[in-house]
Amino acid sequence: MPSNADLSEIVATIGRDMADHLGGGKVADYIPALARVDARRFGMAVITTDGEVAETGDAWIPFSIQSISKVFTLTMALERLGDDLWKRVGREPSGSRFNSIVQLEHEHGIPRNPFINAGAIVVTDALLAGRAPAAGIAEIRDYVRKLADVETIDIDTEVASSEAATGFRNQSLANFMRGFGNLNSPVDDVLKVYFNQCSLRITCRQLARAGLFLAGAGTDPISGDVVTTSKRARRIAAVMMTCGHYDASGEFAFHVGLPGKSGVGGGILAIVPGKASIAVWSPGLDEAGTSYVGAMALKRLAAATRWSVF
Ligand code: GLU
Repeated sequence: MPSNADLSEIVATIGRDMADHLGGGKVADYIPALARVDARRFGMAVITTDGEVAETGDAWIPFSIQSISKVFTLTMALERLGDDLWKRVGREPSGSRFNSIVQLEHEHGIPRNPFINAGAIVVTDALLAGRAPAAGIAEIRDYVRKLADVETIDIDTEVASSEAATGFRNQSLANFMRGFGNLNSPVDDVLKVYFNQCSLRITCRQLARAGLFLAGAGTDPISGDVVTTSKRARRIAAVMMTCGHYDASGEFAFHVGLPGKSGVGGGILAIVPGKASIAVWSPGLDEAGTSYVGAMALKRLAAATRWSVF
């Protein structure tokens, strides 16, 4: 474990080094409201299980959480349903793009894992379980607020509307799964919650804080709150490692070696079990929808701190 001074220096150096790469990758434009974000932004925040924080760049600017929300909804659903959740969603890497429908037919509407869009939509349905969409949205928002210890985290309604207006693929996935009997609530209700959870606005600082319980074996090391069991925290981290970056999860494990979850808003949450929680943000994405500069920064951080789990 680097000392706090060393960690601050490592993070500051990464911030300086990333300046040469800003604007790399391609901002997600299939959700029109995301396409308007400044591609040259970069932020990183690291919080250790001792509560030390190191950050650089735009760590204080809110961005769209997108698929990183799936880590929090998975945790909520496992707490609520236990292992029964795994009857409706698998935990194998898909090797397919995030919004692919091809495996669903062969696998009878059971998505490969909870981080591809189909799997996350099932998890959201499991959480909704007959509630009104507004109540489901408020529960997820409040859960993230509590984990981040920030009451003001909220949903960007413009992004949510933009996703709803262009979410044809997600509608296809949801309808397909409903046809297989793996979605219980009305498709429109489930997608409303899903689009809103993806539209939470959060900063790197807040996101790293919200993920800290995973570094603390399920217990938030600062508040002492037991968010989940250590066994579940380990399993959530395992799914992040194997499935957190869709069809590029292997590449991320190879280069960074940490459980992580990307979002097409350009954020990545990465966990160093027992040590730290890290959030990076830079809007330009690689082919698989992972932040290009964000992944580069995490690779540098993992190398400098020797934090890879391998
Ligand atoms: N809301 C996005 C979608 O459903 C999430 C994708 C992502 O962040 O990877 O397409």
